Amino acid sequence: MKPLRIIASSTIILLILIGVLFGHYFHRYHDSQAENIERAITEAQGQLDYIEREYYLLNERLVSSSRLLAENQSMYDYILQPSEEMKKVLEQVWASVAAGQKWYRSIRAIDLAGQEVIKVTYDRENDQASASTSYRNLSDKDFFGYVQSLHDNQFGTWQIEFEDPPLGMVDSPVRPVMKIMTPVSTLGKRVGYLVIDFDVSFLSDMVTYSPDPTLAADLISYTGYYVAGQKEHMLFGEVLPGRSHFNFATMNPTVWQKMTDSPRGYYFEDGTLSVFTFIGILPERALYAVIQMPPDELEGRAEQGLGDLVQEAIFVLMLLLIILLPIAFTLAYYYKRDMDGKLARAALNGMSAVLITDKNNKAILVNKEFSILTGYESSVVTDKDMLVRLLGKDSHAIIEAINSEVKTKKFWEGELLLYKYNGDSVSVITRIQPDYSPLGDLKYNIISFVDISERKQLEERLRALSELDDLTGLWNRRKFEQELGRAASIAERYKDKQPSCLALIDIDHFKRVNDDKGHDEGDRTIRVVGKILTDSLRTTDFVARIGGEEFALLMPHTTLDEAQHVLERILVAVADSQDIDVTISAGYTDMTGDKDRSYKWADIALYQSKENGRNRVSRCLSAQDYL
Ligand code: GH3
Ligand code: MG
Ligand code: MG
Repeated sequence: MKPLRIIASSTIILLILIGVLFGHYFHRYHDSQAENIERAITEAQGQLDYIEREYYLLNERLVSSSRLLAENQSMYDYILQPSEEMKKVLEQVWASVAAGQKWYRSIRAIDLAGQEVIKVTYDRENDQASASTSYRNLSDKDFFGYVQSLHDNQFGTWQIEFEDPPLGMVDSPVRPVMKIMTPVSTLGKRVGYLVIDFDVSFLSDMVTYSPDPTLAADLISYTGYYVAGQKEHMLFGEVLPGRSHFNFATMNPTVWQKMTDSPRGYYFEDGTLSVFTFIGILPERALYAVIQMPPDELEGRAEQGLGDLVQEAIFVLMLLLIILLPIAFTLAYYYKRDMDGKLARAALNGMSAVLITDKNNKAILVNKEFSILTGYESSVVTDKDMLVRLLGKDSHAIIEAINSEVKTKKFWEGELLLYKYNGDSVSVITRIQPDYSPLGDLKYNIISFVDISERKQLEERLRALSELDDLTGLWNRRKFEQELGRAASIAERYKDKQPSCLALIDIDHFKRVNDDKGHDEGDRTIRVVGKILTDSLRTTDFVARIGGEEFALLMPHTTLDEAQHVLERILVAVADSQDIDVTISAGYTDMTGDKDRSYKWADIALYQSKENGRNRVSRCLSAQDYL
């Protein structure tokens, strides 16, 4: 019951600790989710800041390089005095600017009538700028009206639109472009217009660039349409009728509301995080940069943090176990020691006599039963080597034997004869149980004695009373003596009336059986011969084992000839037995009133059988004198 309770309570404590740990980490997990969102916001804002900075930089360079182009002397010269030579020079200048800046799609000069007069295009994929040879009239385009309305030196931008396909190639892929335009004037006179197509895909590359793909941004125009970003199929809803439903403002009305309210911020709705900032890329062209993270992306980011958290939790759990296990073992150890103490006390006050000695075999403690058993009072035994006293003169040899057994078996149990204080002896079953420290040093011995002298005496008496032979189950020598006496007195009383015979039987060369096949086989042979004897005789006959391999038979109402006959049959039975490989010799005589004389005569007859070669029967007649 107790150990079960210890296991149960340890388990409960462990479960509680694991529960607390789990709760703590669950809390931390929740916190980490909040942290995760905060981190996502911070990182997204960082990315938006980067995009914004890049944009202002781009803006500046765009405007300044556009201004340089517009105020370039070669262009004035060409517009005022067009010549092939001037044209070539201008085309080369523009081509080198386009190839250097990489964000122009085309640079064009148009005259006051809207006619293209010079045009350079740039192919970003192949990094190639080339002069165009075919010119159009753009006077019917909406933007032409717009550029006409601009003041001198004023730059204007036009909405994002798809560039016109090259002449004669209606189906070729076209690019989204944004026009930057300015009137060209010289000497206070307007002479034409500069129209630059800015490659919007350049923007897309810039906003989607991020080592973390979840931080890719979208650029949204002030009308809510996607202008640049990863979602290519949703771009330019403003100018592509098939995509007009891809409008950020109508798709995310609450976020859009927030975006129009403040230039910078974030919104968390339905598990999706939207972080935005307002940027003005070009004069009059407002844009929003937005990073949106749907729930799965947020979770993906959280999992990294969760992995770290789980690792930490496992580490803490292991630490806990490493600390707790030794404590549990120590507790269990002390509990066991306590139990040992209780057991020892129980033994001390129980049935057996107990002597506890220190590592030098000096008595520390004895109980009442010890004093009763040995006669030594507890006050006189302290600090004495009691075992030496109790064992008497052979004590050293006995203790040496005990110690060598304790070394291997860690305890000793056996029968001892103790000498009491008054000199009497007592037989005891003794158990010596050493107790060792965890380091293996002997601390003390617990020696218990159980008095078996009564049992011993009883055993002795029973053995004395026994009339049966242990090995064969036949009668023993003591019983034979009695029976021989009885047979003698019967013979005395009924002389010549009731003849009876006495036979002695001895196994031939029995030493060889022992020597060749061992003592156990010898015992078995004796038993088998005993069995053949009982099986061959009448129930009124008496069979005893009277010595090692000697048997005696008393056969009442049996004449000498009948006895001869019976003994010969037995001889044959033994010799023919498959079970054993011996012969026997027998000697017999007819019983008289003198039992000693009859025994002697039978013994002489047996001796004759041995003398004459064994495996035979000899007789001595009571009437003759063999001495
Ligand atoms: P023999 O033909 O002259 O009788 O030869 P033997 O070898 O039988 O000689 P003897 O009778 O002198 O020896 C008997 C031996 O039997 C001696 C003893 O070691 C052995 N013995 C005596 N009692 C027992 C017993 O109970 N069991 C066994 N296995 N052997 C016994
Ligand atoms: Mg013999
Ligand atoms: Mg013998």
